[in-house]
Amino acid sequence: MIKPVGALCNLDCTYCYYLPTKSVFDGREHRMKLTTLEEIFAGILPRFGDQVTVIWQGGEPTLAGLDFFQKAVEFQNKYKRPSQSISHALQTNGTLLDDGWCRFLKEHEFLVGLSIDGPPKLHDHYRLTNRGEASSKQVFCGLRALQKQKVEFNALCVLNDVNVHHPDELWDYLISLGTRWLQFIPAIEWEQDPDRPGQNVLAPYSPDPVAYGKFLCRAFDLWFEKYRHRVSVRIFDAVVMKLVMDKMPYCILDGSCHREMTIEHDGAVFGCDHFIERRWQLAQIGQPEWHNGISLDGSIDVGLTVHRAGYVKADEHVGRDIVGHDDLPLARDMTGDCEAASGHLDTRWFERADAARLGTFNARKLDLPEKCVNCRFKPLCHGGCPKHRSQGGDVPEASVLCEAYIMFYEHTLDRFEWLAGFLRRDEQPPEPVNAKRTKKANREHAAR
Ligand code: SF4
Ligand code: SF4
Repeated sequence: MIKPVGALCNLDCTYCYYLPTKSVFDGREHRMKLTTLEEIFAGILPRFGDQVTVIWQGGEPTLAGLDFFQKAVEFQNKYKRPSQSISHALQTNGTLLDDGWCRFLKEHEFLVGLSIDGPPKLHDHYRLTNRGEASSKQVFCGLRALQKQKVEFNALCVLNDVNVHHPDELWDYLISLGTRWLQFIPAIEWEQDPDRPGQNVLAPYSPDPVAYGKFLCRAFDLWFEKYRHRVSVRIFDAVVMKLVMDKMPYCILDGSCHREMTIEHDGAVFGCDHFIERRWQLAQIGQPEWHNGISLDGSIDVGLTVHRAGYVKADEHVGRDIVGHDDLPLARDMTGDCEAASGHLDTRWFERADAARLGTFNARKLDLPEKCVNCRFKPLCHGGCPKHRSQGGDVPEASVLCEAYIMFYEHTLDRFEWLAGFLRRDEQPPEPVNAKRTKKANREHAAR
């Protein structure tokens, strides 16, 4: 994951967890230099496998400008092996997207994640501009530009204390945008509890865990009854994949953190975008004092997803486990050339990443209380994300969303198992009786 402008954003959403990370980088410009951008690809590509996924994240990454992204593609082409293919995902608030941007995104097959919290009255509750004004009209212009250039996008909906109570309205609206991919992310943030020194409480805009559980149950019912054959919901896909392939692509519900390298605008490298804290920094591009063995990976992609014509199984793990130098992909024809051509660049930063610190970071997710160790849903939850524990994973603790997960699995697991049964036999599950199909899907179905 690359963050070209760090936490800089042209919006000022109340619940944004990136804005406080600005203070980690105070005093420095929040824009990535082109030398850093080049160093990233010069360092990574010779050492990664043949499938590389780059996620562009912010703040608002499009603030870096289209030229910056064109340069990124240029650098990738310069340093990739002929056998290497690079796919892109861009998470954006959509407000700066225009025809020029969308032509570029289409040409390079970016999968765009558009942040949208529901119809305007729900979206505009917390997603405000820097001047405190509603942002939904600007987002809608960006959405139209995406649709005009036929760029695939997924809708990322942050659930807060307001929209979490409107699952039907949210669902209908997001589906009406024409996307086939949905993500629901609960805005879990912590504040100091004024009544209990040293303890934290959920921020006022965070969804209540029971409300979040109810939301997931209702969203599942809507998906299962009408849309399960053509709409992908990230958390539902993840559970199906776990049941069918015993792989959990959603780190929050997996047994350990996934090794998703996050590179900040100034070249600081972290193990996860949710913990941009100096104590968890793993490397610094351009600073040779960082020197430890490497234990970083590519990323784990969703390997099984609902697609137009039903479920599609992809490679279960497109990243590559790199735990030592012997695991490095052979890049005989790249490494020498790339170093000779780029003597001024720090191409070895990746090898200096602090593997021990990454291990300590990852180990915190495994540190579970008795409640989780004995829980019947542990294989599908593992205590959730350390970010969702009130002490940030520093002590054994269950997720604040525990009740939501229990409610969700009790409500859905038999139907998940039913779906998984077909897929284990390599059969497609029957379409829902009340299936909603697009006209195109109707034509495809009739032609089968
Ligand atoms: S800290 Fe949370 S979001 Fe980050 S890798 Fe671990 S489980 Fe995933
Ligand atoms: S007790 Fe709660 S948080 Fe822990 S594994 Fe079970 S459902 Fe997850």
